[in-house]
Amino acid sequence: MISRRLFLGATASLPLAAQGGGSKMRVVIAGGHPGDPEYGCGGTAARLADLGHEVTLLYLNRGQKSCPAQPDDPGATTRTAEAEKACGILKARAVFAGQCDGHAIVDNAHYDDFARLIEQLAPDILFTQWPVDHHRDHRAVFNLSYDAWNRSQRRFALFLYEVSDGEDTFLFAPDRFVDITGVDERKRAACYAHASQTPDRYYALQTEVARFRGLQCYAKLAEAFVEHPGGPKVLLP
Ligand SMILES: [Zn+2]
Repeated sequence: MISRRLFLGATASLPLAAQGGGSKMRVVIAGGHPGDPEYGCGGTAARLADLGHEVTLLYLNRGQKSCPAQPDDPGATTRTAEAEKACGILKARAVFAGQCDGHAIVDNAHYDDFARLIEQLAPDILFTQWPVDHHRDHRAVFNLSYDAWNRSQRRFALFLYEVSDGEDTFLFAPDRFVDITGVDERKRAACYAHASQTPDRYYALQTEVARFRGLQCYAKLAEAFVEHPGGPKVLLP
């Protein structure tokens, strides 16, 4: 659906907010665990949702400890509820890909399953985690996302995000920035919705990153991304 996309050639000087009617986009933000999309992209998610775009947070697992995942796993029930609450704050919806925390599987069957899920969600933009990351589930969600993007013939834009730099993400060199100063309170609330995950510690770290990214783009606080050049060009807010 070319009409729903923003191509740089036509709109290079226009911010995303300037697009006219009929150009609402579907945005999918994939993460290894409940909380990853919120910490890495929560401000950008809020800004996109406020512009009327349909934002989905796609979690590789529910944070459960049992594997195969048991629906009554207390980790799963608690963290699913936290994810739903975070998505409500960001005006997004939650989708779960059905894998297990700490046991992500990347094989042909799971590539196929994830690609089918992405096809159903039909994003115009897919955000996923940067691949040089300490957590294997983060690396897994990158691999699954990248494979789905390639199999789609690169029909949608692909952006990579960072989380907990120095602990998880390494070697991240972004080329796209989104000012999140005006939505930081909502991002904070969405991150703190994950109350079981020591938000005081992780939010403080992510705020250091947001301040540094802000210095790089004349903002107080920013989120930063690497855009793959192979997809259709879109402008972030
Ligand atoms: Zn994670």
